[in-house]
Amino acid sequence: MSPDLREVVERARLHVLSGKGAYVVKGFEDAVPVDVPDGPFYFLPRAWPVYGVNSTLVGATLILQDVTRLRRFDDLKNDLVATVAHEFGTPLTSLRMAIHLCLEQVVGPLTEKQAELLTSGREDCERLQGIVDDLLNLASIQAGRFELQIRTLVIDEIIQKAISASRSMIEQKKLQLKILRLPGVETIEADADRIGLALNNLIGNAIRHTSEGGVVEVGVAANRSGLRFEVKDSGEGVPPEFQKKVFDKFFRVPGSKSGGAGLGLSIAREIIEAHGGEMGVESRPGEGSTFWFSLPTTRARVQSS
Ligand code: ADP
Repeated sequence: MSPDLREVVERARLHVLSGKGAYVVKGFEDAVPVDVPDGPFYFLPRAWPVYGVNSTLVGATLILQDVTRLRRFDDLKNDLVATVAHEFGTPLTSLRMAIHLCLEQVVGPLTEKQAELLTSGREDCERLQGIVDDLLNLASIQAGRFELQIRTLVIDEIIQKAISASRSMIEQKKLQLKILRLPGVETIEADADRIGLALNNLIGNAIRHTSEGGVVEVGVAANRSGLRFEVKDSGEGVPPEFQKKVFDKFFRVPGSKSGGAGLGLSIAREIIEAHGGEMGVESRPGEGSTFWFSLPTTRARVQSS
């Protein structure tokens, strides 16, 4: 048995026998490669508990499903998405530049109607740029090029940087922005760009889903296992039946006014999990949402005050 396969069988066995229920992986990206001369075969591991009389846990059933063909389709789809997103980049940049120059009236004066049309064109370009960025980020994560550049980061700096990227949206919507920083937590070992991206996605969502004059709170606190970041908003909330699904790729809550492709949260979760952390949401429809992520102590340096 290949070492990868042996490790995954052991992980599934331990998961089930420690009473955590069925072991189910997220998708084809978790399929385990087994090298053979004609190229790798991919197996998707799944395990279930086996109960004896008195409902006692007596063992585990493990199934390794051969998903080699499906995995190749998945790779093909990912490659296609990455290529399309990459090819969109250059024309989109020149389109944005052209609209910007027209709006700045560098190439001549505009009537009010023309300015209005170009402004809405600029907003659509920004939205498209956001989707292209999301697709490229996702593609780089999926292609396994996702190596973290771990450095010591100052938490205040990460937060300030993430907020400054959204400053104009916060002002436009007249939102009240609060930062809750508990003293004693100063630095963290993490990948600055990736954690910044995850935090940006959460803050961007909080702003988009909160109506004018609402409140967005960004908080960081130490807990037993490390650090917990929170982005809380007073927006529309996430219905309970969708709270798990919002982290899936391309999922958007039906009727939601978000302008993206449903990738921001799945990218954020991949980043946090790559750091060994976890991510989740607590929300009640109509009462806002709290999206949180935790980073373990091995990554977080908590200073005792
Ligand atoms: P998108 O780019 O479409 O916003 P995300 O992955 O960031 O994709 O979010 C997935 C979906 O989760 C969104 O379409 C939206 O329906 C819901 N969502 C995300 N953040 C919030 C929030 N703060 N409040 C309410 N709904 C949210």
